[in-house]
Amino acid sequence: MEAIHYRNCNICEALCGLEIKYEGNKILSIKGDKKDPFSRGHICPKAVALQDFYCDKDRLRHPVKKTENGFVKISWEEALDIVAENIKAVQEKYGNDAVATYAGNPNAHNFGNQLFLSNFLRSLKTKNRYSASSVDQLPHHVAGKYMFGHNLLLPVPDIDRTDFLLIIGGNPLVSNGSMMTAPDIAKRLRAIQARGGKIVVVDPRKTETAKKADKHLFIKPETDALLLLAMINVLFNENKINLRHLKENIDGLDLLKENIKKYTPEKAANITGIPADKIRSLALEMAAAGSAVCYSRMGASTQSFGGMCLWLTNVFNILNGNCDREGGAMFTMPAFDAVMMNPKKGKPEWKEIQRSRVRKLPKYYGEFPVSTLADEIETEGEGQIKALITVAGNPVLSTPNGLRLEKAIQQLDFMVCIDIYVNETSRHADIILPAATGLEIPQFDIAFHNLAIRNTVKYSPPLFEKGKGLKHDWEILTALMEKINGKKHDGRTPEMILDFALQMGAYGKTGLSFDKLKENPHGIDLGPLKPCLLKRLQTNDDKIRLANEAYLNDLKRLDKMFFPEVNSGQVHNKNGYPFQLIGRRVLRQHNTWTHNSQRLTKGKNECTLLINPDDANSLEIKKGDIVSVKSRVGQVSVEAEITNEMMPGVVCLPQGFGSRKNTAMSVAASPLSVSINDLTDEMRVDELTGNAALNGVGVVVEKAES
Ligand code: SF4
Repeated sequence: MEAIHYRNCNICEALCGLEIKYEGNKILSIKGDKKDPFSRGHICPKAVALQDFYCDKDRLRHPVKKTENGFVKISWEEALDIVAENIKAVQEKYGNDAVATYAGNPNAHNFGNQLFLSNFLRSLKTKNRYSASSVDQLPHHVAGKYMFGHNLLLPVPDIDRTDFLLIIGGNPLVSNGSMMTAPDIAKRLRAIQARGGKIVVVDPRKTETAKKADKHLFIKPETDALLLLAMINVLFNENKINLRHLKENIDGLDLLKENIKKYTPEKAANITGIPADKIRSLALEMAAAGSAVCYSRMGASTQSFGGMCLWLTNVFNILNGNCDREGGAMFTMPAFDAVMMNPKKGKPEWKEIQRSRVRKLPKYYGEFPVSTLADEIETEGEGQIKALITVAGNPVLSTPNGLRLEKAIQQLDFMVCIDIYVNETSRHADIILPAATGLEIPQFDIAFHNLAIRNTVKYSPPLFEKGKGLKHDWEILTALMEKINGKKHDGRTPEMILDFALQMGAYGKTGLSFDKLKENPHGIDLGPLKPCLLKRLQTNDDKIRLANEAYLNDLKRLDKMFFPEVNSGQVHNKNGYPFQLIGRRVLRQHNTWTHNSQRLTKGKNECTLLINPDDANSLEIKKGDIVSVKSRVGQVSVEAEITNEMMPGVVCLPQGFGSRKNTAMSVAASPLSVSINDLTDEMRVDELTGNAALNGVGVVVEKAES
């Protein structure tokens, strides 16, 4: 009999509500849930593909073991025993640090893993922990910790009420919001303009969002920090500092002023490519707006000065009087409050940062940057990695210099992947443990309600029973913990933990509980964001640190890069690589794992190199030509797409493509699909945070022979 199921889509951050019609275990339709108080009926094409992942014949439905004849099916008991035996053998022979872990992005969208993964990782007692955070959003968390005292105190732009939205290096019309959970973003952006507000986009590419904005400014890759410094300089020089209710809680204002006085708009103009008068008027216009907010994302955070960009974004919003204020950069009060469940107040603030063994890169939140994972596998000595456990990750495609990492993981003594596919990484594993996914799992979002532009809450039960041969991720993690460490699971389910957290949280007193969520399948609206920073600050003296020493020291690195006497004044020292490569997201894909859906991959080839017409002309490249793109670490051949979207000297490839042969991802294994991370350079990192500098990679572009 036909029935309807309501749930949140858990593919990306936007938390769209879905209305799924089904009969038995057959999906009849997937539409937006108009009664969802947050997404209001919006969905993107990816949600419809949830049925493809559920039915995908290539998805693993039982554990497999690698043999000379390929992967063969084995029982859970045998698979878990092999994993435990090999992990324990490596620990005994080389020490706990010889076992490394890598957690991929889908963990952030998985209810069970959000609750159980960190316990599992801690139980291994290894310092070699890695995740997708250091190729994505680490600078946001570092700024949260250094400025507000907690890595999860992350300001989000109050786009539903702002009068002025400045977007640096972000493309929310395609990402559907990132580090900003904002379903139905197109309507929300149009509403800013409809109420007389303004949107300005700063990006080396005229993105889909920039095309709809009131103004777009091209900026040279990796120079955003200079733009922000100059805008802050304008606020000081024009007496536009307005701290409002945060005045008594600000630490380091004079020190900040002293340190940034030399970064004038005139100095920034040469480097950024944005004229000084435009920088000045942008800062002053935002200061004069009723409310305004600067939102910086991938282009600003995954580059050589990512940490500094996110610090300066927060500083600009604070000094402009728009932090913790309607229409500005606000903080959430989520029903499952991960900040208050793990408070930092009263604990020592960061002084000394631990460093990695080989390249001495910084460790934040118990993790080293994934850019150094290959070094740690290849370099002999105490602490060398000999075994790897990946959980829902595909670092061969999603981390810099994937080819080197792919070679490195083949020298491991043992690798196990918890994954739904034989992908570019897991195909090298000794064992793959498949978890239930998508429509088979319950959904409650812990991570992204913390980043949402409105406080809402929703729980979705599984639509279908998990397949007979599958376990939930958290069941795999607890089973492994028991086999490896003898640590018995205490019997708590994710739902039990959720119920406790809801009742302990800010809305517990008003009766919010797990039962209440089950009674409200469309979700519950908890209202717009409210000023709450002073209640939530986690610094020991309740001060917001504007001028943390770590950031002030990093200014010296910025000076060295941009202002050395002998330098041309550009971060990109061409050095034989005349173009700078940047990445882009495409609407019909999500990272590296959605390529097996025919409905998402059919149609126009989206894996193209975007290049400016003047650049294409000078290289005699015509539309549709196959071009060779070469960086220090690798070379790919890809179709050229000539477009005025691109700033001259900058070229752009999408992220997430590049399925290799011999994986289960058969649909996308096309010769035209290349991985941008076969070109990105693992040696380029933001030295402050260790985040990969994926944008601004120097490349040579040539017309290919054939
Ligand atoms: S925008 Fe994200 S959450 Fe919404 S339907 Fe698309 S993939 Fe799902």
